[in-house]
Amino acid sequence: MRYFSLNQKNNSDKPTVSFQTAVKQSLAPDKGLYYPLSVPRLPDSVLREMESMTKTEIALHLMAPYVEEDIPQEELQKIVSETVDFDFPLVRVSENIYSLELFHGPTMAFKDVGARFMARCLGYFNRKKPEEKTRVLVATSGDTGGAVANGFLNVEGVEVIILYPKGKVSDIQQRQLTTLGHNITALEVDGVFDDCQDMVKKAFVDSDLNHLNLTSANSINVARWLPQMIYYFYAWQEAKKHDIPLHIAVPSGNFGNICAGMVAWKMGLPAEHFVAATNVNDTVPRFMETGDYAPKPSTQTISNAMDVGNPSNFIRILNLTENKESLEQIFSSYSFSDAATKATMKSVYEAHGYVLDPHGAVGYLGLTRWLKSQNKQGGVFLETAHPVKFKDIVEKELGIIIEIPPQIMQLMHREKKYQQVHSYSDLKEFLLD
Ligand SMILES: *Cc1c(COP(=O)(O)O)cnc(C)c1O
Repeated sequence: MRYFSLNQKNNSDKPTVSFQTAVKQSLAPDKGLYYPLSVPRLPDSVLREMESMTKTEIALHLMAPYVEEDIPQEELQKIVSETVDFDFPLVRVSENIYSLELFHGPTMAFKDVGARFMARCLGYFNRKKPEEKTRVLVATSGDTGGAVANGFLNVEGVEVIILYPKGKVSDIQQRQLTTLGHNITALEVDGVFDDCQDMVKKAFVDSDLNHLNLTSANSINVARWLPQMIYYFYAWQEAKKHDIPLHIAVPSGNFGNICAGMVAWKMGLPAEHFVAATNVNDTVPRFMETGDYAPKPSTQTISNAMDVGNPSNFIRILNLTENKESLEQIFSSYSFSDAATKATMKSVYEAHGYVLDPHGAVGYLGLTRWLKSQNKQGGVFLETAHPVKFKDIVEKELGIIIEIPPQIMQLMHREKKYQQVHSYSDLKEFLLD
């Protein structure tokens, strides 16, 4: 597969790059997002066989077309089997409403899949010259950092530098970033998430740092973004067993996850409809209503992994359909307040005994709103984080105690290690050192 920059969309002889280059660069030199030159439709025979395939086999079929010039089949087989080495159960919440739980990975966030896949690809690309290090620089508001730290731990030839805002991540999240050591360094920034993000962006365009081979592990990177297609085929495989139609709601922030789902649909996934559910950061719901894309600064909410005012992957979604009318056929987007989110966490727990985290609750709201508007029944929402990651709010709203699972418990006794960063020049000094 070749990849082009979406800034060159209308250029008939646009330059293209390999998967390897797209992964190592993250963003194209013209600052556009990379996008596959084609989205191949899987043959009907393969789609039929997928109903009974293992998780690894599904992942292999989906990812092969996007990487095959750069990663041989047997290596890809190894990479995907390690990437999806945990459960993705479809759990019944109420009559015909199912939760696809994506939080059973090592850091209990759905970002584990993308982070593990990307880490293994970079490890493979660097296998011959591990001394020529690639440096992965990430800004995190919480979940991305933990998944990236865990996914990249001890990958040869890769150094990971994570910037997080002081006092703005939960204790569990901070432990996930700061206790691993080895090739993972955590930098605590005196500021908010946007300050971390700004420093990372500055570093990418700083010519003094060119020789450091910096790349990003955010969902702008194709190796983080595309493997998320896999969830949607698992959802389909399981939903079929219960005769549930594939109306699928995704709690969305940067819109990478839902966009991967829509790529899966283009490849042949028999999805009925996608619903992007957001918190009050409603740039996309407003666009769907007015046709005007008007980003604004993010507002802090209880579903903070989705506090994004200008979702970076939405431009990829726009590229999947001809125009807004054809997008509306397959995609809707709704926004929900914190009050509605809390009320849903409570009512779903009381009526069905299911514990939603705030992000999953937003997804649940999106699904039920869509089904009601269509007078339809039955669908799936994605539960993107384990409730323990948002322990304080969940315990307060539901009046319950959430037990800490073993993969989190083992971090509780480790020493936190991080360096303080006050300005961009501190970061630069650190990187050049
Ligand atoms: C990152 C994240 C999201 C949003 O995913 P996008 O791909 O950015 O839309 C939703 N829920 C949780 C728990 C997350 O960590």
